[in-house]
Amino acid sequence: MVPAPENIIGYYGFPRREDIRLARERYGCHLPLVDLDVYQGAPDSGLLGTTTCRIISNIVDNAVFYSRRLSAVIADVGEGKCDRGRHIAYLLRGMGFQVIESRITEAEFENRPLVWSRSAGTLRERVNRIMDSVIDAAPPGDTPLPCAPTHGFWGVPPHDFRILDLFPPTTHIYGWTRCVEAGRPSDLELECSIDEGVPTVFFTQSFCAKQDLAHYLAEKFGGMEVDCHRDVNDSIGGKVEAFLKLS
Ligand code: SF4
Repeated sequence: MVPAPENIIGYYGFPRREDIRLARERYGCHLPLVDLDVYQGAPDSGLLGTTTCRIISNIVDNAVFYSRRLSAVIADVGEGKCDRGRHIAYLLRGMGFQVIESRITEAEFENRPLVWSRSAGTLRERVNRIMDSVIDAAPPGDTPLPCAPTHGFWGVPPHDFRILDLFPPTTHIYGWTRCVEAGRPSDLELECSIDEGVPTVFFTQSFCAKQDLAHYLAEKFGGMEVDCHRDVNDSIGGKVEAFLKLS
């Protein structure tokens, strides 16, 4: 049966490229791939507790929002995500969604060049370019040159991208986002690699296990640890702005 044109294939985290290819072959290569980690305007489904990280809530809210339009969910259940990625794969299957579990192993790690992590330009756009590489591994045609970092942003792509707009264009990207660009989503060494002397904001979503790393690294490198649950409020924005200005 040819699926309705408005159907989509959802994914979250960084699934194996082969699993994405097979899902497209099975459900329709013409179907748009939608990153369920990202807020898509879905209302709160109320299915998860209030102390669930916002990214995981986005995945469930988006799945409920798209409902029957969602032909399948390619779920990153590997070490590159977190236990919650595995748990919601189980919940989504129980809710009747077609769930394809996907795990990138170390043997499958790539070694892609760090183009967007180390170049100059709007941080929001460079994080987006990195996350686009999950479903399109083609090297960028408009490769920017590397720049010397004046600041650093460490972490996952945030729920509220407005925090990225506070950073100067010469900010380097570290942490899990850098691992995604390298094609090595659970490479803990790379995730914890920071350039010494670069004033860095260690960002996590609230209630994320990566807060352990963020705290340790912020202490070790003298950076600032920030966590945020939903929208970036004035207090968080003010702290980040002050740190960037004064460092
Ligand atoms: S932000 Fe943390 S807790 Fe949330 S999905 Fe990502 S790794 Fe898991």
